[in-house]
Amino acid sequence: MMKIHALGYPRIGKKRELKFALEKYWRKKTDSGELLDLAARLRQENWQTQQEAGIDLLPVGDFALYDHVLNTSLLLGAVPPRFVDSDCTELDLEFRIARGRAPSGKDVSASDMTKWFNTNYHYIVPELAENQTFALSNEAFFQQIEQAQAQVKDQKNQVKPVLLGPLTYLWLASAKGDKLALLPDLLAVYQQILLRLEALGISWLQIDEPILALEIDNEWQQAFVDSYQQLNGTLVNLLLTTYFGDIRHNLDTIKQIKVQGLHVDIVAEPTDIEQIHQSISSDWVLSVGCVNGRNIWRSDLQDIHQTLAPIYAQRAEKLWLAPSCSLQHSPVDLDGEDKIDPEVRSWLAFAKQKCQELKLLKTALISGDTQAIEAYSVPVKQRQTSVAVQNPSVLDRVKAIRDNADQRSEVFSQRKILQQAQLNLPLLPTTTIGSFPQTTEIRRLRNQWRKKVIDTPAYEAAIKVQIQDTISAQVDLGLDVLVHGEPERNDMVEYFGELLEGIAISANGWVQSYGSRCVKPPIIFGDISRPTDMTVRWSEYAQSLTGKPVKGMLTGPVTILCWSFVRDDTTREQVALQLALALQDEVSALTKAGIDIIQIDEPAIREGLPIKRSQWQTYLDWAGYSFRLSAASAPATTQIHTHMCYSEFNDILPAISALDADVLTVETSRSNMALLDAFEQFNYPNDIGPGVYDIHSPNIPTVDWIKGLLNKAKSTVPVERLWVNPDCGLKTRQWDETRLALANMVEATKALREELA
Ligand code: GLN
Ligand code: ZN
Repeated sequence: MMKIHALGYPRIGKKRELKFALEKYWRKKTDSGELLDLAARLRQENWQTQQEAGIDLLPVGDFALYDHVLNTSLLLGAVPPRFVDSDCTELDLEFRIARGRAPSGKDVSASDMTKWFNTNYHYIVPELAENQTFALSNEAFFQQIEQAQAQVKDQKNQVKPVLLGPLTYLWLASAKGDKLALLPDLLAVYQQILLRLEALGISWLQIDEPILALEIDNEWQQAFVDSYQQLNGTLVNLLLTTYFGDIRHNLDTIKQIKVQGLHVDIVAEPTDIEQIHQSISSDWVLSVGCVNGRNIWRSDLQDIHQTLAPIYAQRAEKLWLAPSCSLQHSPVDLDGEDKIDPEVRSWLAFAKQKCQELKLLKTALISGDTQAIEAYSVPVKQRQTSVAVQNPSVLDRVKAIRDNADQRSEVFSQRKILQQAQLNLPLLPTTTIGSFPQTTEIRRLRNQWRKKVIDTPAYEAAIKVQIQDTISAQVDLGLDVLVHGEPERNDMVEYFGELLEGIAISANGWVQSYGSRCVKPPIIFGDISRPTDMTVRWSEYAQSLTGKPVKGMLTGPVTILCWSFVRDDTTREQVALQLALALQDEVSALTKAGIDIIQIDEPAIREGLPIKRSQWQTYLDWAGYSFRLSAASAPATTQIHTHMCYSEFNDILPAISALDADVLTVETSRSNMALLDAFEQFNYPNDIGPGVYDIHSPNIPTVDWIKGLLNKAKSTVPVERLWVNPDCGLKTRQWDETRLALANMVEATKALREELA
């Protein structure tokens, strides 16, 4: 019979149990036994939920305490030598690689962490040595399979292990020299794994090779064909699993790969599943990822049914259904989300509901009775015409945007003169990125206000006290451009999501970002408008306390887009433009209120890049346009800053410079200003503040260290265009360390100014 399966399920638990358990363990408030028990319980609950929803094949091995790529490294024995310590448990080794702390007192730096394709999930980058060898080194994967087999009892063929494939593993790794040279040794371990799975009676292995959605070259394509030839030889069937994009450009290669089934994502990019079905062997299982695994919209099951019915007629039990990708990118359960407007709620489906959707589809395909899926799809149809979604005046405004509406009234060189006359800043101006420590007091205030323990006037008065403290601390430190400190913001995207129309906020729609960190993306369901000022009150108040300039602080259109669940009934570009117009109005309101410097943060600009490189430029064009549009209402005398962090910007520098911000503050300090080398080649034209210390580290940077970095920076960037700032917001730090670090930063700057005078 036709099967439905999931590629992976959220690990964090319905109430983020895993997050709290991990953090408790790291604070040494529990032992490993308790943590591992909870992990086992979460896996068990996940399998049970999926079974109850009707899922036939349960993913096993998708769970990770920290990250599944890291688990793969542990399984394959790819552990960088600096982490190896004889008296370290497997569990602590895992956390040490991820978090860089050594129990033996000596600190080691963590392995790099980076974005998992174009999602907001971060994986730990495997670090492979020049002649890296591999060896089967960890039993956790097999133990979890046995745990699942025990749970499903007599239906052992329900257990479908999930494993990252060898080619994608290598692709994601950092390695010195030719990665493909490591393949033979790696494949030997994969062969051993397959033998172990065979011995456990496993009939299907989901082997994830998402790089097949990328534009890989001939050498890698050939490596796929050769490698899987070698992996074939056990009784375990291989389901070659791709996701996050269309794969038709690699179809000629895929057809030759020796596997027994193929999973394709038909929602991430436009594709032609009929063509794929016709091209691949009729002996193969074709698993169709037809329910979006990384967005929250209820599926139009009628529509999917229409696409799949002809394929089912031919492929019968060799057609499987699944979400497009692992459900780890989806919130856990829509049940209990009663704060979302009921109409909007009727348009949503989280992980559990997505499994139920598959069951409905399967039943309809097998029976031919489409009544249930028609009923299920009613809200999806209603969404298309709902007045909550459509806002004609927003659409008209977007249509009326003129081509050059993104241009400031003067060019940068002109603006620089006007702004200097207005602001009168010293050489090497010092500033911060926006947030100051989010103290427990601030969090308590916000909680009390949300629970209506304190009323709005009391809350706002208390926030003002926080702003006063933050301003006076900055004045005492001698900083040149001040910020209000963002005490009113829980999160830089959610804050705006709550104030803009067309966006809903869930109570529990958390997804894992990395390790124990979860995010709760706002849900952009309709046309976006700005019914009220969002930040003016706070910036205006902060500015009233000081003669020094206070930066207004906004989150940019691209970042709001990238860190939200976005509607699928219009283009991302359209949503970005709507956000830009709303932000443009906020920029106007801030300038009217006397704010002369406005920062529009775009830390997420890089992660919006399409998965295929050939499509980058189109994205960068409209993303850049949206950013400029949001800033374009600022008069030439208003200085626009932007800030970026968390990622490699080297390969998109032209696009960053095309944002035409007057000042760019950017993370560079962790890499010891390596980014500046790229700036040397590229010659960034406007002002730039390369972060002079890493705010993620509790270490206080010394005056000498900062001076050293500044000296390095000024050999690349003319000193007249150089700013001095930390590399990101300070919200995760404590006040005492913040004061010390900023004092050193100011002192280093003053010393350098004297030397230059
Ligand atoms: N202005 C924000 C802050 O300082 C920027 C955060 C970010 O870059 N992620 O917190
Ligand atoms: Zn940042």
